[in-house]
Amino acid sequence: MIPKKKKGVRSGPDDAPLGAALRARGLRLTHPRRIILEVVLGTDVHPSAAFVHAEVRRRLPRVSLGTVYRNLRRLAAEGLVQERTEPEGLRFDGNLAPHDHFTCVACGRVFDVPRRRVAPPPLPASGLQILSHRTEFLGRCGACRRSGLPLTPHGRHCHGR
Ligand SMILES: [Zn+2]
Ligand SMILES: [Zn+2]
Repeated sequence: MIPKKKKGVRSGPDDAPLGAALRARGLRLTHPRRIILEVVLGTDVHPSAAFVHAEVRRRLPRVSLGTVYRNLRRLAAEGLVQERTEPEGLRFDGNLAPHDHFTCVACGRVFDVPRRRVAPPPLPASGLQILSHRTEFLGRCGACRRSGLPLTPHGRHCHGR
C-alpha cells in the first residue's frame, strides 16, 4: 500500500501508481501540487514546509513558501498526507498508516513506530469522547548514542529540518 521509504529524499520517477491513485479519488493535481506531494511521499524525515519548499524549488525555482504551505495544508485536508503539530511548527508525513513517532531529542530525527492498541484510560470528566490518540516516544537514535551528542536543556538541537 504505502511503499517502503528510503532514508532521505528520493527523486526518481518511481511513483508511477500515484497519478492513477489520485485520479481514482477524483483529484487532479496541478504541477506544483504533484511535485509537493512527491517530495512528502519520497522522504521519511517528516518534513517542515520549509524543507518541502527547498526540495520543490530544485524543480520549480520560482515557487513560493506560501504556495507550498497552502498546498501542503490542502493535501492534508484531502487525506493525501498527514500533518502533525510539533513544538517548532507543522510537520508533514507521507505515511498514512496509523502510527506513532519516536523523536531523537539530540538530533531531532523522527522515526515511525507501529501503533499499539491501548485500552481507553479513565477520563477526568464526564462527556469526554476520545476520537483518536497518539503516543510520542522521546529518546536518542543509534547515531547520537554512538557519537555521544549531548542533550540540550530544551531537549533537542536545532538542525534546520
Ligand atoms: Zn539522533
Ligand atoms: Zn510518521
